[in-house]
Amino acid sequence: MSAHIIDGKALALSLREDIAHAVSALVEETGVRPGLAAVLVGDDPASAVYVRNKKIACEKAGLYPQEHVLPASTTQEALLALIQQLNANSKIHGILVQLPLPPHIESKAILQAVSSDKDVDGFHPINVGRLVEGDPVFVPCTPKGVIHMIDSTGLDIAGKRAVVIGRSNIVGKPVAMLLLHRHATVTICHSRTKDLPSVVREADIVIAAIGKPLFVTPDMVKEGAVVIDVGINRLPDGKLVGDVDFDGVKERAGWITPVPGGVGPMTIAMLLQNTLESAKRMGK
Ligand code: NDP
Repeated sequence: MSAHIIDGKALALSLREDIAHAVSALVEETGVRPGLAAVLVGDDPASAVYVRNKKIACEKAGLYPQEHVLPASTTQEALLALIQQLNANSKIHGILVQLPLPPHIESKAILQAVSSDKDVDGFHPINVGRLVEGDPVFVPCTPKGVIHMIDSTGLDIAGKRAVVIGRSNIVGKPVAMLLLHRHATVTICHSRTKDLPSVVREADIVIAAIGKPLFVTPDMVKEGAVVIDVGINRLPDGKLVGDVDFDGVKERAGWITPVPGGVGPMTIAMLLQNTLESAKRMGK
């Protein structure tokens, strides 16, 4: 039987409607409009599209978007000065620095400079620490969206075997931590994992965050598993695909996310939600 499709686009749309209502209620009650500043350095076309989509989503949900597009030649000092300015701006409740930054800028220093109270991406070491402790303030957007998608299936995560493929700081590790806090038994796989297919075959929940087109094939997936595909890969013919062989795996999985229209839209919805929550906290 073919898997149920987890429609990220529809889920995200419904979340964004709820956020829009909550934003207008907040503005009415307190006069505070949640503000999100997006900082883009350089002219990477994919990053420019992400930033533009985030701005449009902000506007549609009634948030106040600020866009800072800087040339690739921007110095680290100039970028740090902008971040300090945004940290101090009371109209801004969330600061997002679009990655990757140009190689001459030390990303770590920039992410650490963002106030941990405005760190809507959840990348600041203080927020990473809070997440590990199980008491997060900002949950990173993509991992938060992944958990929301699993929850939308009705599956109880507690006690399930979860395998996360990929161990990046922005997806793999935080997703694994969130699953652990929800009482899954979690394994993280990476490029040095031995016999990765046999590990993945054990999983009731598979999260693919690798960045390799069609990496997860049907023979790796347990019948009925929930498969969440975080990957976004562009094939030479221009087609966008995930890390999962969707057509093959959907014949074995119980639930599966498509690419596009899966995790991507959820990430943006979670960014809006984190900004709204931040504005509510600061307004108190
Ligand atoms: P990274 O490149 O930072 O990490 C990739 C991870 O995959 C690494 O841990 C790496 O292992 C592992 N990996 C690579 N090759 C293999 C392999 N052959 N076998 C096993 N593991 C492997 O990527 P990100 O986490 O930033 O992103 C992953 C994907 O998700 C990308 O396609 C990205 O575009 C997408 N993405 C999508 C988002 C969305 O909103 N939908 C948001 C963020 C990312 P090792 O550590 O050993 O090198």
